[in-house]
Amino acid sequence: MTKRKLLVAGAGGFIGGWLVKELLNDLNNQVISVDIKPLSEWYQTFEGTPGIVADLRDNRITDQLVEGVDVIYNLAADMGGMGFIENNKALCMMSVSINTNLLDSARRYQVREYFYASSACVYNQMLQKDSNNLGLRESDAYPADPEDGYGWEKLFSERMARHFYEDFGIETRIARFHNVYGPHGTFQGGREKAPAAISRKIALAKLSGKHEIEIWGDGEQSRSFTYIDDTIKGIKLLMGSEFRDPLNLGSSEMVTINQLVEIIEDIASIKVKRNYNLAAPLGVRGRNSDNTLIKELFDWEPGVKLHEGLTTTYNWIYDELSKS
Ligand code: NAD
Repeated sequence: MTKRKLLVAGAGGFIGGWLVKELLNDLNNQVISVDIKPLSEWYQTFEGTPGIVADLRDNRITDQLVEGVDVIYNLAADMGGMGFIENNKALCMMSVSINTNLLDSARRYQVREYFYASSACVYNQMLQKDSNNLGLRESDAYPADPEDGYGWEKLFSERMARHFYEDFGIETRIARFHNVYGPHGTFQGGREKAPAAISRKIALAKLSGKHEIEIWGDGEQSRSFTYIDDTIKGIKLLMGSEFRDPLNLGSSEMVTINQLVEIIEDIASIKVKRNYNLAAPLGVRGRNSDNTLIKELFDWEPGVKLHEGLTTTYNWIYDELSKS
């Protein structure tokens, strides 16, 4: 039987790595894994798919890679937590060329299905000024006032995917991820997000005996955080559906950063002194995912509780730090 040929862009990254692992479970799939990073820096590699190191901002490369491919999963982007995206707006916007090339090559080589990894950063910032956010609905992306740089790139690329369906018939699916966390993700170096950053700080406090950490802002900004298993399950459900509009794929268990610290303190069995850095990059004040639509579509929403997901994540980061 002919295998389905799947291309995962950004396979050396956090979500891409877990997605490749899941896709390889189906023996009908042939997975092509691509990332710009040297192979030694990929978060996960698998025997069933030799990693290809390539820069997807080059359209000659995307042409070569997509020939004969049935489905493209685009998870490649220059991205990170608030500290990265607030200080690297141009770099974040350059990811537009990855999506543009992949879609255009998909059109020319008749790729049938396309997944685009969008973000909650597309939502109008005016609706996120209060810590007590009731949840952002998919329609709240318009009128547009997304996160500068990174959010604009995501919103533009979403629309590009939509028009490639309308004009060229490529079956595009778009998930808006809300802060994904889990093992085998970025936890140091400046691109990490809050769950990994705070897990690292508390793990280091535990290892060093110096029970003190820095927190960005006053800790009262709120977010919801989605465990990687839920994200992968949601991608599969969306790809198996006929839903073509952007869809929230995020947990609706909202916490403040101070509450996030409390949960990780509990997991680590230590208490830390909190030093608030009010000059640090913060992003919006409050953000949560409204899951009405995903529940209507799939009778499901991301359900892994923060305490459970953070236990696995913290333990993995603690072990990684203990090795060095
Ligand atoms: P990640 O940084 O771990 O993975 C992205 C990968 O893309 C990296 O390995 C990077 O090397 C690769 N890449 C960057 N530029 C490339 C290029 N020119 N050619 C080939 N590969 C390139 O990030 P992630 O957390 O796995 O995120 C995956 C996708 O999901 C991204 O599009 C991101 O914007 C989106 N997203 C993630 C989150 C989250 O919380 N992790 C939230 C919202 C949206």
